[in-house]
Amino acid sequence: MKPYVIEGPAQICFSGGRTSAFMLHQILAANEGLPPDCHVTFENTGKERPQTLDFIEECALRWSVPVHWLEWDGFLEGEPQSRPCFREVNFHNAARHGEPFAAMINASTMLPNPVKRMCTINLKIRTGSAFMRSLGFREWDSVMGIRADEPLRVARMRDPARDNTSGVPLLPLATADVSKRDILDFWKRQPFDLALDPQGDLGNCDLCFLKARYKLVRALINEPERAVWWIEQETKRSGTFRKDPPHYRDLLRAADFYRRQLSLAFEEEDGDSSVTDCYCGD
Ligand code: SF4
Repeated sequence: MKPYVIEGPAQICFSGGRTSAFMLHQILAANEGLPPDCHVTFENTGKERPQTLDFIEECALRWSVPVHWLEWDGFLEGEPQSRPCFREVNFHNAARHGEPFAAMINASTMLPNPVKRMCTINLKIRTGSAFMRSLGFREWDSVMGIRADEPLRVARMRDPARDNTSGVPLLPLATADVSKRDILDFWKRQPFDLALDPQGDLGNCDLCFLKARYKLVRALINEPERAVWWIEQETKRSGTFRKDPPHYRDLLRAADFYRRQLSLAFEEEDGDSSVTDCYCGD
């Protein structure tokens, strides 16, 4: 079994996280470089954290592998159902303020939500697919960093009923029985790493509506300014990213509240050792 030996044509999906970076590393090692007709892509929504973008660039430079930085750039026929256009950018000129994401919301005239994830579909999947089609491919493998310890995702990708017009999923990590622990062990041995806490779930879009509420609030305690873009989108569309409350405005309020509690707790700590646990330990 040689799970990392890839035959093109293939799109190697690099999200900028440790898992997909590990997968890319193993593919390069097993194939002595990038196999012919294989293309590494990163689809930038503009809402990834700077640490993620730095990490992608560092992997590309250290491993001498070309990474195609792609951004959604409108619907081909102006209709949300039509294929997207894309533009190829690079580390230096990639969007960093949510521009592709906001433009896609404007063009779709609605916010994505957990049931209708138009952001994933358009900004990630269809943009990558448009890139592969622009190279002349009609069918290709879509090599994804999904681990063996993510059985639901593995099952979804391998479902025979899945629509594979944007690439047939190939899951080398699941085939090689790789778990999160293996990934973290690998990165501990490397001379560089993604500068985000492995337990923090801070990758992908900074305040993705799929992240747990307590993780969003915890992120906002440290970086309240990150709420601005999300509040703006909800205000413009008079809607929410989730059906269930709270709005991002309320998450920001909760974060402000806990930040004040924390500073009070630290003040008390100077003279009193009985500090209340932060709620994030819930
Ligand atoms: S990370 Fe979240 S917000 Fe970003 S594209 Fe994926 S589902 Fe959408």
